[in-house]
Amino acid sequence: MLGRFTLRTKGRPDQEEAPVRFTPQDEDFRADVRKWLEANLTGEFADLRGAGGVGREHERHAERLAWNRHLAAAGWTGLGWPAEHGGRAASLTQQVIFHEEYARSGAPTRVSIVGEELLGPTLIRFGTPEQQARFLPPIKAVQELWCQGYSEPGAGSDLASVITKAALDRDTWVITGQKIWTSLAHVADWCFVLARTEPGSSRGNGLSYLLVPMDQPGVTVRPIRQLTGTAEFNEVYFDEARTDAANVVGAPGDGWRIAKATLAIERGAAMLGQQVGFRRDLDDLIDLARRTGAAGDPVIRDRLARAWTGLAVIRAYGLATLDGGNDTAASILKILWSRWHRALGELAMDILGAASLTIDPQLDRWHRLFLFSRAETIYGGSDEIQHEIIAHRALGLPR
Ligand SMILES: Cc1cc2nc3c(=O)[nH]c(=O)nc-3n(C[C@H](O)[C@H](O)[C@H](O)COP(=O)(O)OP(=O)(O)OC[C@H]3O[C@@H](n4cnc5c(N)ncnc54)[C@H](O)[C@@H]3O)c2cc1C
Repeated sequence: MLGRFTLRTKGRPDQEEAPVRFTPQDEDFRADVRKWLEANLTGEFADLRGAGGVGREHERHAERLAWNRHLAAAGWTGLGWPAEHGGRAASLTQQVIFHEEYARSGAPTRVSIVGEELLGPTLIRFGTPEQQARFLPPIKAVQELWCQGYSEPGAGSDLASVITKAALDRDTWVITGQKIWTSLAHVADWCFVLARTEPGSSRGNGLSYLLVPMDQPGVTVRPIRQLTGTAEFNEVYFDEARTDAANVVGAPGDGWRIAKATLAIERGAAMLGQQVGFRRDLDDLIDLARRTGAAGDPVIRDRLARAWTGLAVIRAYGLATLDGGNDTAASILKILWSRWHRALGELAMDILGAASLTIDPQLDRWHRLFLFSRAETIYGGSDEIQHEIIAHRALGLPR
């Protein structure tokens, strides 16, 4: 994969094109995506640009749902899914291009991400034909939204400590327990839940991967207010909640293997799109530094130049390891981008100077970035856990 990308050594950082060359076919695909987005981010969707971004996941859900369905109707969901599952079977390179163009256009953050990028590929790999036929079409059409029920108060980094339990009652799983930090559970129709189905089992043994409908008496969702003042994630209580016996992915008791596969599913393509958003943050911050005069401060200039360099490194590494790279590539990338973005939020506060101390309750863009980026070094595996993985797998150090 690496050989397909040619790194340019010259060129202005603010040029629209990334420092990478794609094939002529890729560029045709890019032109199609760009044209479609330009033609469609108009009319009722025109003012959705930028909605639902970092720390703004609560924003304009109904309109973003309508937009997401519009994308689906035009075949822009399930991009990397195989054609037999209704996908577009787009190559990784094309997926990168789509996400880059999407971010560049300012189109609103999609509401379908958990289903489309986490559960969909998991079902394609591990689901039964019946599960695939039942669940994939509404994910692709954005008719059913999903959330991820893994973390619990006592099981975050140490996910194998899950204690939510489920038992078969004839043809139904009955689930009792508590999940926490469940993103978008308040708008989800379904949740994929990691639950202990073998009493007395421990760690990764005896867990099952269940697909559970949210709209039922046994499920209670309580929002958790975040540092940004909004509530993007939730506590989810299962009190004898029910789902069909057939709604278990993989064999009962084999859920740990499936859950880990979901975690490992390639998210590089979308991540590279995210970097276009990061580039916009950086460009706008440079403008802010110019306007406020902070750009004359040698320390600020130095930090801006470092930020620019850091982003170039992240992009190059992301492209070089798009096909998975080595088994610590995902950890390295996660540390690089989440720390980079968090540092950018801190730099924004320093560029604002004294003005950073007065906070509008609605939060402006820079305060929102500063506050929400703290979450980025936690979700998807905290920094410490990524370091632990690198220490063990790459350096061969004892656990
Ligand atoms: C914005 C956001 C959205 C989220 N969305 C979801 C979601 O949709 N679904 C879901 O299931 N979960 C979700 N999470 C939860 C997320 O996966 C967990 O927060 C994360 O795994 C850390 O677990 P924890 O919060 O229990 O912290 P803990 O695991 O208790 O960790 C606390 C601290 O101890 C450190 N630590 C823990 N173990 C070790 C170790 N072995 N060595 C060194 N340091 C260690 C951690 O790095 C951290 O700093 C979300 C979290 C955030 C912030």
